[in-house]
Amino acid sequence: MMLKPDWERNVRRVEPYIPGEQPKERNVVKLNTNENPYPPAPAVQEILSGFDCDELRLYPDPDSAVLVNAIAEFYGVKPSQVFVGVGSDDVLSMAFMTFFNSGSPLLFPDITYSFYDVWAEVYRIPYQRIPLRSDYTIDPEDYLIENGGIIFPNPNAPTGILESTDTVEQIVSSNPDSVVIVDEAYIDFAGDSGKASCLPLIEKYDNLLVVQTFSKSRSMAGIRIGYAIGSEKLIKYMNDVKFSVNSYTMNRITQLCGAAALSDREYFTETVDKIIVTRELAKKRLAELGFTFTDSRSNFIFAEHRSVPAENIFKALKEKSIFVRWWSDPKISSRLRITVGTPEEMDRFFAALEEIVNG
Ligand SMILES: *Cc1c(COP(=O)(O)O)cnc(C)c1O
Repeated sequence: MMLKPDWERNVRRVEPYIPGEQPKERNVVKLNTNENPYPPAPAVQEILSGFDCDELRLYPDPDSAVLVNAIAEFYGVKPSQVFVGVGSDDVLSMAFMTFFNSGSPLLFPDITYSFYDVWAEVYRIPYQRIPLRSDYTIDPEDYLIENGGIIFPNPNAPTGILESTDTVEQIVSSNPDSVVIVDEAYIDFAGDSGKASCLPLIEKYDNLLVVQTFSKSRSMAGIRIGYAIGSEKLIKYMNDVKFSVNSYTMNRITQLCGAAALSDREYFTETVDKIIVTRELAKKRLAELGFTFTDSRSNFIFAEHRSVPAENIFKALKEKSIFVRWWSDPKISSRLRITVGTPEEMDRFFAALEEIVNG
């Protein structure tokens, strides 16, 4: 008798990460995935317009030297301290594979970027969620337990709360036997002219990896560029893994566009500052409409209305073609995450919101 074929027994089964919706319609106000409402730096358009298609015959530089050097120069570090990938999701995934190989649990906050547990599952990394304090801040004392690594975003997502460099340093310095990853996807919106970043600490701690992205503050989510900065040792280990998986992750056009974006500091500062101004104004208007929220230092606001449930607001906004983010997880289901758009987008958002909550 033939046995029933059972190839599915050997499948790596995972529950995938669910990204925010990318609606196909045109005239929506899209405040659901923390994209930047302003276009990339003009230098990026110049690269695209001048690109010679014939170059696509050839493989890209596997070291992405043009981009790595530009990032190193921008942050005043050595090129050997920079790793680049296809969005910071790719960088983080490589970092998980490279650094979290212990039998002890990887630690991260219980309210945080919902990709961390997905990577931990797919790579079979044991993990433990560490509860935030009731005001959503991190208690560094909670990270003194036995672990095989630590990761958290700063500012955290979806709360937007920024932890001080002192708090970050406490966690890094008390865990010399683990790699600590700080996911700074939103750090450019923290203000303080760049001083909020824990990057300076990499000179002091060779177990600290700082990850950032071009997707938010540099308006380039569609081209996929992320990077990690850390000690030469950490970066070498990551490159060893990357070159064991796929050498040519970054295409030719992306490498050039990334370097071009970094060349225009003025445009970068100007667009980031505009978003910060719009965010602070949005906080005032939300408060007037009866919302409370955490003190976001990112390009989104995590807000809760005093009487109307977040799910209802989320659905009513969607009917008016305004997209924000809402999660059914009971820990955060009372809140909406609202990305900061242009002033015009925020006007449309607030007009709709006012109708919904004051109806
Ligand atoms: C957006 C985001 C990322 C990923 O961004 P990429 O587009 O892959 O660079 C990583 N971490 C956090 C916390 C994010 O919000």
